Amino acid sequence: MSSDASDTGCIFCAIARGDIPSDGVYADDHVIAFRDISPQAPSHVLVAPRRHVASIDELRDDRELLGRVLAAAVAVAQSENLAESGYRLATNHGRDGAQSVAHWHVHVLGGRALSGRLG
Ligand code: AMP
Repeated sequence: MSSDASDTGCIFCAIARGDIPSDGVYADDHVIAFRDISPQAPSHVLVAPRRHVASIDELRDDRELLGRVLAAAVAVAQSENLAESGYRLATNHGRDGAQSVAHWHVHVLGGRALSGRLG
């Protein structure tokens, strides 16, 4: 599912193309970041590759894109002024990981004390 053809019907690909609106906070040639439509914290931003990648599980060998997305997530956390208070980066894969959108993204969460529980 990592081919460009698999972006048909993918909502985050539509956001990356600008076909549907989003509340963008960062974009470059490889990465987009936009506010989650259903925020779970005062700051809740999704950071995703522009190209369609269904899940982080497909990216084990693409260290460049892994690094770009993670570096952008940290930059977003800093621009949201979360570095001092703290933040969480999270990514979900598959059914048991509760992934609901099949286009890889990292959640940047902060602005309140988050639960220590992860599941
Ligand atoms: P996950 O369950 O890890 O796949 O996360 C998917 C996230 O995408 C959820 O937190 C949704 O609220 C969010 N989401 C779904 N559609 C949109 C959208 N159109 N714009 C922004 N966030 C969205």
